[in-house]
Amino acid sequence: MRTAVWWIRRDLRLTDNQALTAALKHAERVIPLFVLDPGLLQSRYVGEKRLAFMLGGLRSLATEIAARGGRLIVRSGSPVQAVADVCAACKAEAVYAERDFSPYAVTRDANVAAALSAPLVLTAGVTIRPPDQVRKDDGTPYTVYTPYSRRWRALPPIVRSEILPAPRELCDEPHLPSAPLPVQPSQPKSTPFPSGEGEAKARLSAFIKGENAPIYTYSEQRNRPDLEGTSGLSPYLRFGMISPRLAALAAYTAIENAPNAAARASADTWLSELIWRDFYFAILHHFPHVRRGAFRSEFDAVAWDKDETLYTTWCAGQTGYPFIDAAMRQLIAIGWMHNRARMAVASFLVKDLLIDWRWGERWFMQMLIDGDPAANNGGWQWSAGTGTDAAPYFRIFNPVAQGQKFDPTGAYVRRWVPELRTVPDNFIHEPWRMARSDQLRAGCIIGRDYPAPIVDHAQARARVLAAYKAVKV
Ligand SMILES: Cc1cc2nc3c(=O)[nH]c(=O)nc-3n(C[C@H](O)[C@H](O)[C@H](O)COP(=O)(O)OP(=O)(O)OC[C@H]3O[C@@H](n4cnc5c(N)ncnc54)[C@H](O)[C@@H]3O)c2cc1C
Repeated sequence: MRTAVWWIRRDLRLTDNQALTAALKHAERVIPLFVLDPGLLQSRYVGEKRLAFMLGGLRSLATEIAARGGRLIVRSGSPVQAVADVCAACKAEAVYAERDFSPYAVTRDANVAAALSAPLVLTAGVTIRPPDQVRKDDGTPYTVYTPYSRRWRALPPIVRSEILPAPRELCDEPHLPSAPLPVQPSQPKSTPFPSGEGEAKARLSAFIKGENAPIYTYSEQRNRPDLEGTSGLSPYLRFGMISPRLAALAAYTAIENAPNAAARASADTWLSELIWRDFYFAILHHFPHVRRGAFRSEFDAVAWDKDETLYTTWCAGQTGYPFIDAAMRQLIAIGWMHNRARMAVASFLVKDLLIDWRWGERWFMQMLIDGDPAANNGGWQWSAGTGTDAAPYFRIFNPVAQGQKFDPTGAYVRRWVPELRTVPDNFIHEPWRMARSDQLRAGCIIGRDYPAPIVDHAQARARVLAAYKAVKV
């Protein structure tokens, strides 16, 4: 009986799992292994909410594996040691895993491969299209999204027959010891993002099913943090609780079945977002220096303000700008933030406070349950204007106008910043403009119940432009 190890990393699913399917093709007995790697668990980029989400996903995967006669083997320690130990103990002929692209993962996998006597076979699956599949005619990688997406879309669409079914049966190796999964941290019952493959599939289905499916109004609603107009799938894609290929298939199918042109365009916009995800993986793969510094290295010389107090004020959602504070408090409360809000708070940190985008990137990684080295880095560099693409450094979001445009009734602000709940609509995005009598009537005294703005946007704008211009010259 041939044995293989399925080394699970960020592919916590059974459906459309390319590593698992490849392992099952080559071996009768496949051992599912997850390694609790202290190198990752103790990193300063890790956060409790994401860890709880991942552990919940592992528990539900373990249940699904057990229902098929198998057993999830958990080990704690260095992956080099743990994978080699399990391989030796079950006399595995090969180890299968999905190729990952962060510099940490690349080095880890090279070290594991070097230490193993059996081959480490890396399959696709973390992205829809592997980064090397989408290149320019001359073989060089794209650095701008639009031509990248054009080439991406020119490849054959994802079709149902490509989606790999979940295995019906798995075998166990009863003599193989396994560590228990840590009980803590765990997700609160009230979490808006319950972990697991089943939940991921249900969400995708709710997002795309029927003529009135949210995917068909995505274009008009996706910029509104006060509405639930996006899929909320990012944490599930982050840990592979759903395959990105399955999400792409859903998008293609929705495009095909769209009831009208506007609906079709909406579904197509959603596909574009999935392509952005692939794009940032490709950037990280081809340009790993982005993990440490600016994609365009001249921007590493910006004279950032190293003001820790301003930074912690931003982290805590106490800047005095309601839209920014609502978003930062949403992040603290649920470990997720709407994309429009992410863009606004990132611009605010970098452009209004002149704080190094890497500080914000780190805070997001610590707080987000979907925190992903590629997408997060891409989002921050886009916002800072230091990255790929046309993200000019002189584009600076106005934190008041962003709120007025994308949270027109102030519902998002009122939800996350309760001290502003009774502020009248016309002041909700700039409460400091209320006369003292209005403040008294609203029960919200600026400077006492809610902070005054920590910076003047117009002055901050001039300062950041000068700082960026200095390095451009
Ligand atoms: C500063 C900043 C930091 C970000 N950090 C992360 C992060 O750590 N992890 C993360 O998954 N996304 C990140 N994003 C991208 C985006 O904000 C989230 O993917 C999105 O808000 C998730 O919500 P959703 O699942 O409802 O997305 P939907 O709008 O339903 O989009 C579907 C999927 O497409 C992908 N996607 C959408 N927009 C982007 C994008 N701009 N870049 C890459 N992928 C995208 C996500 O996987 C998402 O789940 C960041 C954006 C910014 C501006």
